[in-house]
Amino acid sequence: MTYCEKIIQSCEKYLKFNFWLTPVCSFDHEGMSEQHMVKCNSPGKAAILKGWKTIPCTSIYTIQKWLERFPKMNIGLVLGKNSGYIAVDIDLKGGEKIFEILSGGIKYHTWSYRTPGDGRRLIFKIPKQNEGCIFNRCQFENEDGECTFMGQGQQSVLPPSVHYTGEEYSWIVSPEECKCLDAPKWIVEMMINSEDINTTYDGLD
Ligand SMILES: [Zn+2]
Repeated sequence: MTYCEKIIQSCEKYLKFNFWLTPVCSFDHEGMSEQHMVKCNSPGKAAILKGWKTIPCTSIYTIQKWLERFPKMNIGLVLGKNSGYIAVDIDLKGGEKIFEILSGGIKYHTWSYRTPGDGRRLIFKIPKQNEGCIFNRCQFENEDGECTFMGQGQQSVLPPSVHYTGEEYSWIVSPEECKCLDAPKWIVEMMINSEDINTTYDGLD
């Protein structure tokens, strides 16, 4: 199966779950415009369409059109109040430690996938009672990694996109395997009450 066919097949599934999808630049920037390459310092991670935060993609036809133009593009899930989802990016051992402390050690059985470079991403639904609220990004880091709560104005690169290392993002628990959990109260409160916190988190032990 070609890369484009894999993206189409995955997007067909994602659209059944009403994901707001958006095209993201290719992992090696092949096929991207000069203008994009000058501005973007995150190959494989940056949304490429103007207005992507507010314009939903709900048809496979549109995705096919994007792929004709950008055959190596990655695909992202738009986050925040319009799409109804938030994500947690847990990077390296340090990120796991931070998440464990913040969550009180609770394991959440929700959609999750592996991000190349020893990380994982969890997806949560914005609870009904918090619809319309702004979920702000919160980032915590220590010397061994970081944990970022991703929300409004962001997108989460989805499998089977390719990371700049050349490795694929891959599902751990896919949308077909379980329900997406509502974001727990501690995450809701932290993200709603923050103004894009960026905290260096030392001395977690
Ligand atoms: Zn880029």
